[in-house]
Amino acid sequence: MKFRTIEVDGFEQVIRAGDLPGGHVGFIAIHSTALGPSLGGLRMWTYEREEGALADVLRLAEAMTWKAAAAGLPLGGGKAVVIADPHRDKTPALLEGIGDFVEAAEGRYITAEDVGIGADDLVRIRARTRHVTGLPRAASGSGDPSPFTARGVLRSIEVCLDRLFGRPDVRGRTVAIQGAGHVGRELAKLLAAGGARILVADVVPERAARCALDTGARVLPPESILSAACDVLAPCALGGIIDEGTIESIRAPIIAGGANNQLAAIEMGDRLVEQDILYAPDFVANAGGLINISVELEPDGYREARAIEKVDRIAETMRDVLALADREKISPARAAQRIAEEIVRQAEAEPRR
Ligand code: NAD
Repeated sequence: MKFRTIEVDGFEQVIRAGDLPGGHVGFIAIHSTALGPSLGGLRMWTYEREEGALADVLRLAEAMTWKAAAAGLPLGGGKAVVIADPHRDKTPALLEGIGDFVEAAEGRYITAEDVGIGADDLVRIRARTRHVTGLPRAASGSGDPSPFTARGVLRSIEVCLDRLFGRPDVRGRTVAIQGAGHVGRELAKLLAAGGARILVADVVPERAARCALDTGARVLPPESILSAACDVLAPCALGGIIDEGTIESIRAPIIAGGANNQLAAIEMGDRLVEQDILYAPDFVANAGGLINISVELEPDGYREARAIEKVDRIAETMRDVLALADREKISPARAAQRIAEEIVRQAEAEPRR
């Protein structure tokens, strides 16, 4: 297989694989290893154009740098994408070829699950490289990250409730969850256990119905969840949902959810401040899954109790972010970005251990 390095400004290394088994193209983007090896999921998706796949892997790899830094992890930001249809093209040969591709980054990139890739696929990839995390529990891995992501989101919701209402408890609060997928339904379960009222919407109606059955949530149509009257809006579907078209319809005084890249642009964070809406920055709130995976890389291996303890520290990080936002009179989104960039800058300035 042929691997070629592409120069991209602001990235340590970007590698293109032109002929993965089956003739597929893939990219590994390493944004930063200032804090440690870069870690980020592998996405298999039917991108129409190679440029789209490259743009995606770059955006996602950079976001991982800030997420790991803000979470205090000794990890950098990286990501991989392969242009293929996960339902049709995902052969053992392709997965093993991807293993060789990951191995070509010589440990500077560690792979994990993302869209189109499951834990069992990682076991196949692992046959060709050690640089794999997020393996199933049966393979001594950390298993499904979603419950840990949801736990971190709950901690973030509590911090926001405490600031606004003087009490972190979710009991009696109404939370509107957009997306009843892996993270959304786990969050709903935690909220239901805490006595919250839940509104939920999913574009796949059976998922919302299932969540309602499990948690007593009330199902709303997808088009009305963002403007629902509630205490907390928890976006747990796709990114970019807070934009010019939606921002003025949001009625929740708090936004705290699991989705990546919730703001279409960082300026939307400033607009939320003007609208008196408290926004829990996404990459701080949703780091629980990454934190859980990172425990797999610790010297003693994966331990769930350790993961839980570390995920719960998201509350502290969130409080620090909101305090900086207050002090500097900037939005929480900008405060989170500033904290993460400062951590990376300091690591870059230190001599390598
Ligand atoms: P998922 O695919 O399991 O769930 C997403 C759900 O959102 C699906 O059920 C989908 O039908 C629904 N959806 C899509 N568009 C919608 C819309 N407009 N309105 C209502 N529902 C809609 O994905 P997931 O693993 O639960 O991840 C959800 C989000 O959280 C993603 O943005 C993901 O990148 C992010 N995230 C996930 C994790 C994790 O541990 N799984 C970690 C960090 C971040």
